[in-house]
Amino acid sequence: MCGIFGVHAPGRLVAHLSYLGLYALQHRGQESSGMAVSDREGVTVVKEMGLVSNVFDDRALTSLPGDMAIGQTRYSTTGSSSWRNAQPIYRGVGDLEFALGHNGNLVNTAELAEAAGMLPGTVASDSDLVGELIATELLGDAAEAADPLLAALQVVLPKLRGAFCFSVMDRDRIVGVRDPHGFRPLCLGRLDDGGWVLASENPALDVVGATFVRELDPGEMIVIDDDGVHSSRPFDAPDPKLCLFEFVYFARPDTNLYGQNVHQSRVRMGEALADQAPIDADLVMGVPESGIPAAEGFARATGIPFGHGLVKNRYIGRTFIAPNQALRALGVRMKLNPLKENIAGKRLVVVDDSIVRGTTTKAMVAMLREAGATEVHLRISSPPYRWPCFYGMDTGTRSELLAANLTVDEIRAYTGADSLAYLQLESLVSSVGATNAGFCDACLTGEYPVEIPETAAKFVLEDESARGPSGDDSSTLAANVLGDDAGSLTFPDTATS
Ligand code: SF4
Repeated sequence: MCGIFGVHAPGRLVAHLSYLGLYALQHRGQESSGMAVSDREGVTVVKEMGLVSNVFDDRALTSLPGDMAIGQTRYSTTGSSSWRNAQPIYRGVGDLEFALGHNGNLVNTAELAEAAGMLPGTVASDSDLVGELIATELLGDAAEAADPLLAALQVVLPKLRGAFCFSVMDRDRIVGVRDPHGFRPLCLGRLDDGGWVLASENPALDVVGATFVRELDPGEMIVIDDDGVHSSRPFDAPDPKLCLFEFVYFARPDTNLYGQNVHQSRVRMGEALADQAPIDADLVMGVPESGIPAAEGFARATGIPFGHGLVKNRYIGRTFIAPNQALRALGVRMKLNPLKENIAGKRLVVVDDSIVRGTTTKAMVAMLREAGATEVHLRISSPPYRWPCFYGMDTGTRSELLAANLTVDEIRAYTGADSLAYLQLESLVSSVGATNAGFCDACLTGEYPVEIPETAAKFVLEDESARGPSGDDSSTLAANVLGDDAGSLTFPDTATS
């Protein structure tokens, strides 16, 4: 996850624009926010833990003059959720300075740190590592190049493995990079007065008044300077593998990916689910927010009335991207409340986008029954989530993934539902609508497009203290994550018959 943003608008003050763009990308990361602004004389970085609206106010933005900016909203995958790891990353090397925002997750962080001979503690996250590698090149051969920053990027980028979209800024330019698999989205927009905007998702272009130009290609790098946009391909063999879960869950419904609108894709997922697993019921409802379009599709395809059965507290973030298990569990109860008048005495079809750890689903089914639902039939608009993601979603180990440990009927019993069905992978891909495009489906199939080294772990660059007092539970070696550890977590109230 994470959201990245960049704006290059000669002659305009852009800190407020950057704030709006980051605000539109808040759903991609809620742990910290930051912005780097250049007034062509120097780069100033402001970053802090918290939401964009917590970190910046009008006074802070007014004190950031400049006509270029990059920003980032963070969801931690490698490196703790801490101020040190908030972004943009900044480095000053001689006369040069640059800032960097990252969306994605590298899988060869430990190998890169070791190969560079970095002492423990030098860097604390994969993004920080990239900043350090670029800085090291700027002190070495790249210093002699005609364009040292681009020369450094040409050396560093091909060494990176995993998922990465970067926005990099020096005093005069913004560089946008998308990895050769294009795991995460990145797009380009144009301001009416001639400036350029870079954003993880196109709604961030809309809110700053920019017109969508195009998605960056997997493996593409663009440099935005006063002369315009210059495109290059620093990687050998692009192999598009856009994350399927961008369509299922991550991206905003008003985002377009591979030219397909995410909301419409989700509606088609619901229609396909109805075709695949119909059920007799009184009401179809979606789990807010991302389950609702699929519920609409399910209702449309079956003719069962669509309605709302859960009210979401709009001021609670996504529980799934809270940084530890304790906060996730708390978040479930804080965020959803049943609409008793709509569901009492009814047989419900409840459509959700996914079941990962099962925390939300189990609590939600219990809430619906307490509110008077006579039957609860779960329909999930994606296949069982069985394998950890290493490309930007922090799912922890296989032992934490419900579907890696239980059969579908055991999951039904664990969640307390009357029936449970998942959308099949082929139907998911056809629902997305870009059937000839490449997708990552590793968390559903175990087929990882980029090999996962055994050293891949959230705290690979930090010691135990980085977990903090609440205990972030996601630090695990890939050997354990990918090993046959199914069943290592017990679910006491699971009926297995
Ligand atoms: S493993 Fe799953 S969540 Fe991660 S990038 Fe691939 S499809 Fe997306």
